[in-house]
Amino acid sequence: MISVDEALDHLFALVSPLETETVPLSEAGGRVLAADAVARRDQPPFAASAMDGYAARKDEVRPGATLTVIGEAAAGHGFGGPVGPGQCVRIFTGAPVPEGADHVIIQEDVTRTGDTITIGPDAGDNSHVRPAGGDFRIGDRLSAPRRLSAQDVALLAAMNIPQVEVSRRPAVALISTGDELVMPGEVPGPDQIIASNTFGLKTMLDQLGARPRILPIARDTRASLETAFDLAQGADLIVTIGGASVGDHDLVGDVAAGLGMERSFYKVAMRPGKPLMAGRMGEAVLLGLPGNPVSAMVCGHVFMAPMIRVMLGLGAHRATRKTARLAHDIGAGGPREHYMRAELRDGLITPEPRQDSALLSVLAHANALMIRPAGDGPRQKGEEVDYIDL
Ligand code: AMP
Ligand code: MG
Repeated sequence: MISVDEALDHLFALVSPLETETVPLSEAGGRVLAADAVARRDQPPFAASAMDGYAARKDEVRPGATLTVIGEAAAGHGFGGPVGPGQCVRIFTGAPVPEGADHVIIQEDVTRTGDTITIGPDAGDNSHVRPAGGDFRIGDRLSAPRRLSAQDVALLAAMNIPQVEVSRRPAVALISTGDELVMPGEVPGPDQIIASNTFGLKTMLDQLGARPRILPIARDTRASLETAFDLAQGADLIVTIGGASVGDHDLVGDVAAGLGMERSFYKVAMRPGKPLMAGRMGEAVLLGLPGNPVSAMVCGHVFMAPMIRVMLGLGAHRATRKTARLAHDIGAGGPREHYMRAELRDGLITPEPRQDSALLSVLAHANALMIRPAGDGPRQKGEEVDYIDL
């Protein structure tokens, strides 16, 4: 058995960044930027008013002073001429500050009579002018690689970038295996259960920015598994679920090997998730996850997600670990690295009392995977432990 970090090294050796493609900005959210995006304009492109009020010369703004209103500047419609001594221009938010003016007196600080304003006693020093290029300038960049957030997309739009180069989304084929499985919504026979991992992993892959495809459930026969692998063609990553341990009906490794899979490892010293397997299979990479629902999801977070991130060009990194303090004392751990379902609240972490790898309700309730190293000794309340966010 190899360690989790060794397994990750093997997995990272199997995958590499995919090619890039260009997508319109409206499709760019959640995608991974593959080439720096460079601003094509200054923002704002001119000194702009941040408030509704009157644009004037700062040295003329004194309580009690009067100015003559000579015109108007609105967003999208600037005032053509300069503002001279004793003059001001009615201005609205987003309008260009006219030549000669460098200050906006907000309308609340002014009394207007006809074309004359009188400045009130509370007009402050704030100019309410957004300088040209104060947000970004031509040539400023959003650097790749970067998963594009909603904010990023808004920024790119403001930079006048209508399309961006992003990594292609990895195509992932998800194969559940087992005679006992039926799809959600079907009527299970007396000995059957519902395939759940497939849907959990599909959601995880969607959120990672992959393009997952759920294949029909493969039965525990060679022929059925071969059909499933055949249907998986074209995928960058084939993820099988179940059938990977040493039971009589665990055929995934055998069948895949028969189809040319070069296995790079089998079995990892972790809990849950020991029967994990991976290898190259033609153009694709095969990741064989354990069938137990919690094992499959934990291995999804610990192994599958980092592989997808490599393919997206985000680099080879294990799942981000954070630290929290134990809410209670805990006894000694076991010989394998343990990913415990845990609840994190106010910086304190509590492992769930039931850690059976079949309990999806416990996993769904947890919001963290607390990581105990192999052979970890007893730990006391308040000690720092590592965890992964769920
Ligand atoms: P296996 O590795 O095939 O022996 O499966 C281990 C356990 O996980 C068994 O109890 C299976 O019924 C269960 N299992 C396997 N695949 C799935 C799946 N896609 N959804 C839910 N349970 C599964
Ligand atoms: Mg099975």
